[in-house]
Amino acid sequence: MKLTHLYATELGQLVTPVTPKPPVSTRLQLVNTELASELQLPQRWWQDNMLGEALDDPAFLLCRQAVAQKYGGHQFGHWNPMLGDGRGLLLGEVEDRAGQHVDLHLKGAGPTPYSRHADGRAVLRSTLREYIGSEALHHLGIPSSRSVCLFSSAETVYREQPETAAMMIRSAPSHLRFGHFEYYYHHQQDDALKQLFEHTFIHHFPEVLNTANPHLALLRTIVLRTARMIALWQAYGFVHGVMNTDNMSIHGITFDYGPYAFLDNFESDAVFNHTDQQGRYAFDQQPGVGLWNLHALAQAFSPYCTQKELTHTLGLYEPTFMQQYQQTMLQRLGLGEPDEAGMGILNRWLTMLSDQQRDYTRLFRRLSLTDITEPTPALRDQFIDRVAFDQWWQDYQQLRTSTGDPAAQQLMMQTHNPAVIARTHHLQYVIDRANQDDFDPARQLLAALQSPFDTRWDDSRWAQPPLDATSVSLSCSS
Ligand code: AMP
Ligand code: MG
Ligand code: MG
Repeated sequence: MKLTHLYATELGQLVTPVTPKPPVSTRLQLVNTELASELQLPQRWWQDNMLGEALDDPAFLLCRQAVAQKYGGHQFGHWNPMLGDGRGLLLGEVEDRAGQHVDLHLKGAGPTPYSRHADGRAVLRSTLREYIGSEALHHLGIPSSRSVCLFSSAETVYREQPETAAMMIRSAPSHLRFGHFEYYYHHQQDDALKQLFEHTFIHHFPEVLNTANPHLALLRTIVLRTARMIALWQAYGFVHGVMNTDNMSIHGITFDYGPYAFLDNFESDAVFNHTDQQGRYAFDQQPGVGLWNLHALAQAFSPYCTQKELTHTLGLYEPTFMQQYQQTMLQRLGLGEPDEAGMGILNRWLTMLSDQQRDYTRLFRRLSLTDITEPTPALRDQFIDRVAFDQWWQDYQQLRTSTGDPAAQQLMMQTHNPAVIARTHHLQYVIDRANQDDFDPARQLLAALQSPFDTRWDDSRWAQPPLDATSVSLSCSS
């Protein structure tokens, strides 16, 4: 393993060295062996026989040069000039098998200068949710930070109630957030902003250095990647929950998991974060918020680009979003390139799911397993309004048969319609078990989420929707 500290050394004044203070009696409970191997981490860390063991490394071996990063962010629309890693530490970068530098970040190892009045701890509940959620998205093909390992502890921390502290290590191409660039722009630290951009170009987006205006090319890349990521969230029913600009990665990966949820019933204005009373980050608000956040980021590019250039680049967001969303949704329906007929079928399908409060993932999955030549498929019984279904089914059959080969369509559908997603009630079950020191359910759910399209999960407990899909509400405190 090669651990470097490029960010901490090149941008020394943008970080604060921190000595980690892990909670008492940490035990390694989850290790992402596939990823650990890709990141060339020392083999002894990720052998199964280490699970459940109290061990000093990996976290502490890595902590010799841990630093906290400074950033700001727009939280629920308001600029907060003083954020930063309050309970997260950048451990450094490792080189993966492909020769790419990847950040390792430890969450929950005690206070930092940016903790304000909080304890610098992460709780087992939210750590498990992040660990599982980010792997779930990754294996659905949605860009995300990744989970390396998770530690339980014997320490109690206080949120709305007493909870158990935990730690996790995650990886990401970098931990640069929109809020990093906003911070140095709004604090008028021109030199720091310049250095941050240069570091970003050289280490993360070297291709932009060959363009006439690297800043503009970087913004363009971030706009396109963010649009595609959010289109995939919408296509798979993922609600991030706290799309503050400090939780937005410049790599267009899903980042900083809080009170996120996958939709059970299809409800387009669903909100799961119970502190979000205005519904700012509701499911159907996410595409608009993504653009709002990019506008906030673009301000930090204004010293280097004309207003016209910025406006043009931000204008790429909507068509990129639409292109990706329509393409993925029509793949889920087994239809070809987006056209008016396909979009009409899609909209009628979504209206049926929404009006009749059907489970989003499960009904897409059932559709993907249905023989298109059936005159009255079993899927019909899932709907209360059979007349609407029959009309839709006829038109859908006609479009499917006129646009391609049924076997190829079915294959496409089976690789775009997961049997399992990280549903809130399953997460709650594995959290409850982990709180009793049993991490086997967490490992089993992870195994299913690592191959979400595999038919072997269709009859498993992890494919089951909740008995009552209404009234899920999640705490933001983590
Ligand atoms: P989040 O809502 O998780 O994105 O966190 C927003 C800000 O609060 C970030 O700067 C975090 O580092 C900080 N923060 C959240 N929880 C804690 C905690 N328990 N201790 C210290 N800082 C925290
Ligand atoms: Mg955050
Ligand atoms: Mg967070």
